[in-house]
Amino acid sequence: TVVCLGELLIDFVPQTNGQPLAQVDTFRKAAGGAPANVAAAVAKLGGKSRFIAKVGRDAFGDYLQEALYEAGVEPVLVRTDEARTGLAFVSLREDGERDFMFYRDPAADMLLRKEEIKDDLLSDGAIFHFGSVSLIAEPCRTATLHAARRARAFGALISYDPNVRLPLWTNADFARRVIVDQLPLADLVKVSEDEIAFLFHGADIEEGARLMLELGPRCIVATLGAAGCRVFTKKGGIAVPGVPVEPVDTTGAGDSFVGGLLCRLAEAGIGAEQLEEAMAEESFVRDVCSFANATGALTTTKRGAIPALPTRAETLAKLGR
Ligand code: ADP
Repeated sequence: TVVCLGELLIDFVPQTNGQPLAQVDTFRKAAGGAPANVAAAVAKLGGKSRFIAKVGRDAFGDYLQEALYEAGVEPVLVRTDEARTGLAFVSLREDGERDFMFYRDPAADMLLRKEEIKDDLLSDGAIFHFGSVSLIAEPCRTATLHAARRARAFGALISYDPNVRLPLWTNADFARRVIVDQLPLADLVKVSEDEIAFLFHGADIEEGARLMLELGPRCIVATLGAAGCRVFTKKGGIAVPGVPVEPVDTTGAGDSFVGGLLCRLAEAGIGAEQLEEAMAEESFVRDVCSFANATGALTTTKRGAIPALPTRAETLAKLGR
């Protein structure tokens, strides 16, 4: 099982690209939040996944429970009366890139508590994935780190996606410190080129990956949009080209990529101890990362994140396998 934890909200996505948020007249709602998208991606590809988060005791919370269940994820949603379910309003630019506006004051997903995450939710996980904004605020931050440490103690491979979205983090120095502090806890870290530059003050990908590997992770995967990805271990780097598509909405591409990657690693039985060696082997990296590139690429061809995730058959067909 791939266990994911953290941010969970509803994305309100417009029907057309290129409209400023203020002029959008219709939105379609869809479950979102980076780690929830990852859990859904794994399930859609035929893997087993569980997602742990907190939602409000409201209709949006019911909707998310149902949406995750329908996506094939085992939802473990703690309900609260203290806050309402998080919401995000998305606006799509012409090229499919997106802008967000959030309802979070605070949103329920940020109120997850350590005591609410029981060991039996973590003990059967081959992989534990976390990241994103759940590290910004308490009590969710302590809860997330507690879960990651417990999962590691149970032998899980720990996957971390910092998912920097600056307007949300508000304070860049704080964001850098929080993210860099988590690196020793992770075996596998997914970052984008921009995140590397942000985290290491303008460092390029090689330099940033080297700095991160020194802090403890065994493997860094840098995503490069249409150009695919690059994988780094202490043994060197391997580039895997992207899969060409016509994007309409890039929402969820990175999460879908992570889902594809984790799904393949879980299937191959790669744990923390095997990760470094496996991700330094060219043929293995090509297999795993072209699969992840294809899941990421296909997700950009439809609107939304979870509704746009591809199946395994669609992914393999895209790769001509
Ligand atoms: P994020 O969504 O985290 O910013 P990227 O935009 O780099 O991450 O996308 C993640 C992955 O999705 C890429 O590594 C690539 O495999 C795939 N992808 C994203 N955009 C495209 C695109 N325009 N064409 C083909 N593949 C894409």
